[in-house]
Amino acid sequence: MHQDFDPPAWLPPLSRAVQALGSPASLSLLCAAVWIVTMALAQGLVWLLLRAPDADDRLLAGLCASVCSLAIALPLGRMLVRLVVHVEQSQRMLTRHATLDSMTGIFNRRHFLNLVEREWSLARRYDTACALVLIDVDHFRKVNEGFGHLCGDLLLRRIAEASAETLRQADVLARFGGEEFILFLPHTDPLGALDVAERIRERVEALNFAWNGRPVQVSVSLGVAALHAEHIRLDQLIHEADEALQVAKTSGRNCVRACAGLLPGKPSRILKS
Ligand code: GH3
Ligand code: MG
Ligand code: MG
Repeated sequence: MHQDFDPPAWLPPLSRAVQALGSPASLSLLCAAVWIVTMALAQGLVWLLLRAPDADDRLLAGLCASVCSLAIALPLGRMLVRLVVHVEQSQRMLTRHATLDSMTGIFNRRHFLNLVEREWSLARRYDTACALVLIDVDHFRKVNEGFGHLCGDLLLRRIAEASAETLRQADVLARFGGEEFILFLPHTDPLGALDVAERIRERVEALNFAWNGRPVQVSVSLGVAALHAEHIRLDQLIHEADEALQVAKTSGRNCVRACAGLLPGKPSRILKS
């Protein structure tokens, strides 16, 4: 069962400080702080116990406090700093696992939906254009059967890279599942979205992918949908892009299709390679 990691309140600021200073400087600072506190305590104790301590008593107390503080602070401080660094790394890894698809390195479906739900509601509220593209690898089963799953896996990575190369920073690309990718294009009108989809199609077609010296034929089909007034939920947009994708598949694959009514006054803009 998945449980959210809820760190104690002191951990995040301590972790930020250790990161900013580095481990050796953090450890030195920690030792210095412990030393000052133990020195003050030792001097206080000597005053309390002996009432009128002479200089030798105070020096001895100071020496004992210094030795004790260093003996305690050095190993404990090292452990604490290492623990903080380890927790920080673990948290970063957890975030990576929770947001990225481990095979392709792009976002996973869950993170995509989280990110895009926000963009989606902003686009609807402020009436700005946005579009969605579904990308499906053509005849991928045949690639697996003919060249093996390792080849299929590598091909998926190459397709993700090739698709990502064409995008702007604000665009959100994710692996939607299996050999299917999804792309959200904020502030993009239908023509712009068709243009992006066609660029991805061309890039994938030009991949020049080979496995053990044998060329592997690769292409993708793409379905495009754009936000319009009737859309209430994001899954309606995904559904429309999926319908367009199915049309691309039945039209012979390796092409881009848009959902009906994407461009005002036109039935469905169709791009065919
Ligand atoms: P179409 O052109 O109609 O999309 O045909 P297709 O063969 O691509 O589609 P189909 O749904 O028949 O097969 C998809 C294949 O993708 C089947 C599945 O084994 C493979 N697949 C899904 N995920 C992975 C993966 O992570 N790695 C590999 N190597 N194969 C995968
Ligand atoms: Mg598929
Ligand atoms: Mg496929």
